[in-house]
Amino acid sequence: MTELLEKPYNETPMPGGSIEITPGFHWVALPIPYPPGYVNIWLIDEGESWTAVDTGMNTSMVRETWGLLVDQFLDGKPVARLVCTHCHEDHMGLSGWLEEKFGTVLWATRAEWLTGRLYNDIEQNGWQLDVEEFYFGAGTGRKVAKVLASSIHPYGLKLGRVPASHIRIRNDQEIDMGGHSWRVMTGHGHSPEHACLYSRDLNLLISGDIILPEICPVLCVFANEPDEDTVQDYLDGLEKFADLPEDVLVLPAHGLPFIGIKPRLEAIPAYYAKKQANILEACNEPLSAGQLMTKLHPNRTEPGPQFIALSEILGHLNHLISTEKLTRQKVEGVWLYQNFKKEAAQ
Ligand SMILES: [Zn+2]
Repeated sequence: MTELLEKPYNETPMPGGSIEITPGFHWVALPIPYPPGYVNIWLIDEGESWTAVDTGMNTSMVRETWGLLVDQFLDGKPVARLVCTHCHEDHMGLSGWLEEKFGTVLWATRAEWLTGRLYNDIEQNGWQLDVEEFYFGAGTGRKVAKVLASSIHPYGLKLGRVPASHIRIRNDQEIDMGGHSWRVMTGHGHSPEHACLYSRDLNLLISGDIILPEICPVLCVFANEPDEDTVQDYLDGLEKFADLPEDVLVLPAHGLPFIGIKPRLEAIPAYYAKKQANILEACNEPLSAGQLMTKLHPNRTEPGPQFIALSEILGHLNHLISTEKLTRQKVEGVWLYQNFKKEAAQ
């Protein structure tokens, strides 16, 4: 991550404050209780109302910050429309809350809206059974698999109620926000159908979690799609962004806005390749995903961070299987992964 990115802003807006990026287009940062510490959302003046892009998490602190925005910033105008990049808790968390407060209409891609609804209904839809078997198969042991199944909802803990209907947006569609045309550009792998938004006249890209300046998005695999190659899905989805102007100002969901999309896009695959090289090296011996997690992330001892690390490793393992660098075998209900290097030497 040594590429040089130009960052026109030195710091994020204060809680309850905002920075105007271009007339009528405002940047607000909302706290999240784990790294990277905050999520950027965007508020767009529509004259009689506002459009918000993303909401922050459903926590009391974020609802209080929204309260400050309503009192001091929104000028008595409602948030008539919410455009959500994706269904994760820090992005779609307050979609239902905004609907109740302002009658806000949710605009989202179909898969993000559906997945948000799925996370909402986890208790009812029998998810736990599949989850327990999935993590047992990943080598966590029965006890931990049970804990994960009963206590951890992927991204769903601080996702409030997602509205029962949405206006569907789709890849390549042009939508109007604040009197400017914005093209929906979908990305995948981090979530099913993540919407980024690009305005040619403003030369701005709202990149959500797809293109970030300091970190790369986690490409997790969960029990509902156990064999998904999230890594390939993500890398394939990135290709369309290479056609954007080199001087586009990228507005990420985490970190500072930056110019330098080209070097950033070039650096991202190497980051994942390094992770996969570490996994491949470790798999000289047959190992489960759970064993890999302990070996590669010995400092992650809390269930939450362990869960994300494990889910991310599963994404890379699926990619290494589909690119034929690893083989796997089920032994007593647990998948064990091994590289071909060792097999060939035997
Ligand atoms: Zn996300």
